[in-house]
Amino acid sequence: MIRLKTKEEIEILRENALLVSKTLAEVGKNIEPGVTTLKLNEIAESYIRDNGAQPAFLGYGGFPFTLCISVNDVIVHGFASDYRLKEGDIISVDCGTVYKGFYGDSAYTFSVGNIDTDTANLLKVTKESLYLGIDAATIGNRIGDISYAVQNHAESNGYSVVREMVGHGIGKQLHESPEVPNYGKRGSGKKLVEGMVICIEPMINAGTRSVKIHKDGWTLSTNDGKNSAHFELMVAITKEGPEVLSTFDYIEKNNI
Ligand code: MG
Ligand code: MG
Repeated sequence: MIRLKTKEEIEILRENALLVSKTLAEVGKNIEPGVTTLKLNEIAESYIRDNGAQPAFLGYGGFPFTLCISVNDVIVHGFASDYRLKEGDIISVDCGTVYKGFYGDSAYTFSVGNIDTDTANLLKVTKESLYLGIDAATIGNRIGDISYAVQNHAESNGYSVVREMVGHGIGKQLHESPEVPNYGKRGSGKKLVEGMVICIEPMINAGTRSVKIHKDGWTLSTNDGKNSAHFELMVAITKEGPEVLSTFDYIEKNNI
């Protein structure tokens, strides 16, 4: 069942979305060669708690960290560790909050120092596919229109789309209906209606779409060891069009 949100509920979701966005920016400021991913996890946890919220992922289904930190060929759900980032790495940081009984959830893939041009293009295309998915999130369209927009852009640029993990509704639960796959057919799936709030989160691989799960039961990586990128934003479906509740502006624009 899809639980539609009132305007008041969307405002609380927006508070969560903005806190997640600011947390990602705080983490981003500390991303440089030599920093451990555990340190980034600590920074995020302190920032979320200092702002009166709780980390949503910590303990969720037994997940042991505040952030999902996924470096290079890791797609999603990677663990923080004593690994030290090095020049040329890419690092997907996925962050969730709980505040006033609602959730926030967004992700950004950062580059560590200078990255090669192929990898920079993977990040660019993955983010573009997210924005194209958002553009398709209008009343009257269906989930499949979002899915198609993401898949079409990624594949027409020579990349592959992860099938095993998908976007989702969000509200009083971190993961609600409907599922929002990053692959699909136009005009298929649930109709988009006012009051839906969804997370659109393309996970795009440079090489094969085939994945493997690690022994920890969480970490998902590409089977061929090539890089994977992941961007996620929270979007409310409104009469005025898709309203993006979280933002990358705190990360990408220093003057906010
Ligand atoms: Mg999500
Ligand atoms: Mg997420």
